[in-house]
Amino acid sequence: PSATLPHRGPRVLAIANQKGGVGKTTTAINLGTALAATGEEVLVVDLDPQGNASTGLGIDHKSRDVSTYDVLSAEAALRDIVRPTAVPHLWIAPSTLDLAGVELEIGQRRDRAHRLRDAVTALNGDPGEPPFTYVLIDCPPSLNLLTINAMAAAHAIVVPLQCEFFALEGLSQLLKTVDQVKATLNPGLEIHGIVLTMYDARNNLSGQVVADVRAFLGDKVYETVIPRNVRVSEAPSYGKPVLVYDLRCAGSEAYLRLATEVIQREKAFAERPAG
Ligand code: ADP
Ligand code: MG
Repeated sequence: PSATLPHRGPRVLAIANQKGGVGKTTTAINLGTALAATGEEVLVVDLDPQGNASTGLGIDHKSRDVSTYDVLSAEAALRDIVRPTAVPHLWIAPSTLDLAGVELEIGQRRDRAHRLRDAVTALNGDPGEPPFTYVLIDCPPSLNLLTINAMAAAHAIVVPLQCEFFALEGLSQLLKTVDQVKATLNPGLEIHGIVLTMYDARNNLSGQVVADVRAFLGDKVYETVIPRNVRVSEAPSYGKPVLVYDLRCAGSEAYLRLATEVIQREKAFAERPAG
């Protein structure tokens, strides 16, 4: 009977911050794993030419014949590049270094900013395939055409902020870009939440940053703070999410709590009156 129901599109969350090294990829992999653990089908789209999300989910560079590059250059459907991971219900659309050149290739096309949105819209069309509930887009460390494609395709944005002195630096530029995308490409776009990462309890500065960011951004900041945890940084070299590498470490527990909060906010978004 489910085959006769119309497919609802997935919820699309872009994980964005133009700063590098703030925990975008780590959040895409581990939030994705925690959401997949609820039994929903989850797709991580690797939109960074570095391909760290793909590597961190066990896809080696040599085996990437088709990638998000082919999707953005409209040579492949998103469904055709999706690969399973070792985690049940978790899938990856890998990237390759070619993606770095796609801006030059499609930059003059009228639909250049909507390539990913169009690909995601077509994703759940095949009744023979299990539909995805969540698509998480791992953005590159730049506000370039790739990130604009992610923002144009997304319902909401998850912003990782590292607990360091310059945490808020660059955030106003990111929020300005979100406003521009809302005004021109994607009126429904919103901020899902801000996640503080790499918190170090032994460092007074970390606590001060958390307090400052909460004072400035209020309840947009998730309650969950991701601790700096060596297990989190070790896991990618084994091609595993930390939740698989060491389920009981503090980093894994934090990402499970973050997923619970993300689901709570999703319910609140869904129950909101329209308009
Ligand atoms: P981005 O995608 O924003 O560039 P990454 O997720 O790749 O950031 O994280 C940058 C580096 O920090 C990586 O080496 C990653 O393993 C490490 N890292 C991320 N989160 C944590 C954490 N909570 N604890 C320890 N190391 C972390
Ligand atoms: Mg990254």
